[in-house]
Amino acid sequence: MTVPYLPFAKPAIDEATIAGVVEVLRNGWLTGGPKVRQFEEKLSDYFGGRPVRTFNSGTGTMEIALRIAGIGAGDEVVTTPISWVATANVILTVGATPVFVDIDLATRNIDLGLIEAAITPRTRAIMPVFLAGLPMDMDKLYAIAKRHQLRVIEDAAQAFGSSWKRNPLGSFGDLVSFSFQANKNITTGEGGCLVLNTAEEAFLAEQYRLQGVIRSGFDGMEVNVLGGKFNMSDIAAAIGIGQLAQLEALNRTRLALARHYFSVFGEHFEAQYDVRLPPANFTDSNWHMFQIVLPETIRRTDFIAAMKEREIGVGVHYPPIHLFALYRRLGFREGMFPVAERIGRQIVTLPLFSTMTEQDIDRVVDAVKSILDDKMRLK
Ligand SMILES: *Cc1c(COP(=O)(O)O)cnc(C)c1O
Repeated sequence: MTVPYLPFAKPAIDEATIAGVVEVLRNGWLTGGPKVRQFEEKLSDYFGGRPVRTFNSGTGTMEIALRIAGIGAGDEVVTTPISWVATANVILTVGATPVFVDIDLATRNIDLGLIEAAITPRTRAIMPVFLAGLPMDMDKLYAIAKRHQLRVIEDAAQAFGSSWKRNPLGSFGDLVSFSFQANKNITTGEGGCLVLNTAEEAFLAEQYRLQGVIRSGFDGMEVNVLGGKFNMSDIAAAIGIGQLAQLEALNRTRLALARHYFSVFGEHFEAQYDVRLPPANFTDSNWHMFQIVLPETIRRTDFIAAMKEREIGVGVHYPPIHLFALYRRLGFREGMFPVAERIGRQIVTLPLFSTMTEQDIDRVVDAVKSILDDKMRLK
């Protein structure tokens, strides 16, 4: 009997969204225009009226956030080694230096207790990441930033719809960056948005995203800062408008599926198999991913291959950034961030997306248990 392949992530685009994109294609205004403005207004409403600007990727969004914060050569930015490499890459792109801090074993996010020891006179910002959409103690994070007069650029790429004390991430805080890449909880194909503090910052974001150009009147144009090409198209914005309307339903489904994972794995699974499930947070997380940490006795590549034989996709999010060749050349080595290295070696992302069924999850859990049983018998 053959079973259909189950990927670890899959977007859910409804018919209304498709109709919205078709309308843009028919109308003929494809680049950033009325749909981008409409999407930004809707996003701003969602974030409690704060200014929001969109971009063509989450990476570009973070780079522009750093530029708006005035971060560049000679500056240090404190961040986590367990993230998509873009988080640290953008710090290098603007000419600043990433300063990694180890992660917390349970949350897999930056260890807030270790941040202050990493702060130097050159530190200008903290760039936290909410892995799998799980926020950290946001009060504690902003207290540290305030105490040391640091900017906070939240890499909330995975956390659209997550919240802290019932407030959506992005509706409070400093600069908050989201991604709409295809695997995120809501997508525009590729894209991102930045929540800002003031109209001045929003104006700067507009300049940085499109060659620094400032327009006035019918023919007036000035260039004052060096900008790049980071603007979102109306095609992408139309997808985003449709996705934003689905957000609540999509995230509600993810939450229910995550709960189902816990109930099928069962209470004794962690102890019995020496596996770590994610924190069972059903209030703040948007359940962007469901990640488990395998026992050290099992090789991750063998586990992934065995899942693939069973037609189940597994992701790796993420190998530690500091051990990539580019970062080793900057002086980073094994042993510097032991928790991140352990998690980075053994973490796997199981399938979780809004069009999955509970039966799909039962299949995944059966597969995980049978593979772990096999490997443990072989020992
Ligand atoms: C997806 C992601 C990004 C980058 O977003 P893109 O839209 O792919 O450029 C950055 N950080 C994290 C944690 C992400 O998951």
